[in-house]
Amino acid sequence: MKVMKFGGTSVGSAAQIKKVASLITDGERNIVVLSAMAGTTNTLVEICDYLYKENVVAAKETINILRQKYDATIDELYSSEEMKNDVEGQIDEVFDLLHYLADYDFTSVDERQILAQGEIISTMLMHAYLREQGVDSVLLPTLEYVRTDEDGDPDIDFIKEKLNAMIAEAGNANLFVTQGYICTNVNGEIDNLKRGGSDYTASLIGAAVDADEIQIWTDIDGMHSNDPRYVNSTHPVESLSFEEAAELAYFGAKVLHPTCILPAKLNNIPVRILNTMQPEAKGTLIYNFPPHKTVKAVAAKDNISVIKVYSSRMFQAYDFLSQVFEVFEQLKTPIDLIATSEVGVSVTIDNRTHLHEIVDRLMNLGKVTVDDDMVIICVVGDLGWHNTGIEAKVVNAVSDIPVRMISYGGSNYNISILVRRQDKVLALDRINNALFSSPEP
Ligand code: ADP
Ligand code: ASP
Ligand code: MG
Repeated sequence: MKVMKFGGTSVGSAAQIKKVASLITDGERNIVVLSAMAGTTNTLVEICDYLYKENVVAAKETINILRQKYDATIDELYSSEEMKNDVEGQIDEVFDLLHYLADYDFTSVDERQILAQGEIISTMLMHAYLREQGVDSVLLPTLEYVRTDEDGDPDIDFIKEKLNAMIAEAGNANLFVTQGYICTNVNGEIDNLKRGGSDYTASLIGAAVDADEIQIWTDIDGMHSNDPRYVNSTHPVESLSFEEAAELAYFGAKVLHPTCILPAKLNNIPVRILNTMQPEAKGTLIYNFPPHKTVKAVAAKDNISVIKVYSSRMFQAYDFLSQVFEVFEQLKTPIDLIATSEVGVSVTIDNRTHLHEIVDRLMNLGKVTVDDDMVIICVVGDLGWHNTGIEAKVVNAVSDIPVRMISYGGSNYNISILVRRQDKVLALDRINNALFSSPEP
């Protein structure tokens, strides 16, 4: 059994839905995870924003514009009037719900219910299309088997038990269609796995059914050597270890959601990134590969704040760092990069929710400064410290760009530097040229 996840652009039009239908009917046993059609989740977020601001008129206008998009898709997707009417009836139910939720006091429970509708619609459209084509498929409602616990983390045991029972109930069925991103939380409310979370759904499912492979089908032919949104000369990376892929996803390679590697890694299931627009392209295979002494790719993570605590009391004070870290622990704020000296420590965070409290508490330990709007640039590959010269190439590449922090040696897989937002594209470009323009980095 394999898991095939298709992102928003992959199912972004009637023509794309037809294309995906042909890819998933390959005669194998597949669980197909779909995102919402491209743009839908953003529109649902917009509707919720209007409702929070009590602008019901704008919310309803936006709901109606979204509806028109689906009417056009339905018209193009199905050939029989009967099927068009049937699907329009199902879409009516979704849009009646959106209008209903817009009419009453708006809460975060309503918001999450609205955000879930994109995936509910896309899977419904696909399921109906397969039916019209005479293909048997089973629609598995994710809300029944993906549940999160009191910490908001997926309840792995529940998912495994429930999903396998649902599959067993379907007998000899070969094709399953299900929603990415959405889940039920510990209070029984509709919830989600955060933006981009369909990749996570796919790997949770892969782990639960012990899939042969988890395929992430998207709009690009694999994990590229650098962010193609900012750098021109990027190339697809053929293979990555789980560790390398996890670093890249965490440090900004949008093609993979950061949470999606762990379930695959723990269960030793290969993950393949493939291009729906170019299915014959090799893509990227992520697996338990041994290190092979190469730099694989570069990624960038935006909206980083760096906090420096400077104190003469740090000198030989063995508890200084633990006191600093305790503040972040108390305020549940993860740290990404760290640099220390005898008299100061700098750390980066990407979650500014508790920044003011963090600074207040750190001021008890020393002088505190904060720089916002920074970017972590992360070079990933087999960077064990015996491989000489790579860190020099990275640092030389940015010799005329102000670098606020450097982190190397935390793992064998990454060198990270911290630069200002306005220097990001130049730094990515320079590092790209330094590492990938010659045959062997
Ligand atoms: P999907 O909707 O299929 O989940 P995403 O938009 O989440 O797709 O991810 C695909 C996009 O990720 C690509 O179109 C590309 O612009 C962006 N991206 C950023 N970094 C990388 C990278 N290193 N390799 C490939 N794509 C990347
Ligand atoms: N539809 C959701 C989003 O746009 C989830 C996903 O696409 O992975 O964030
Ligand atoms: Mg995505």
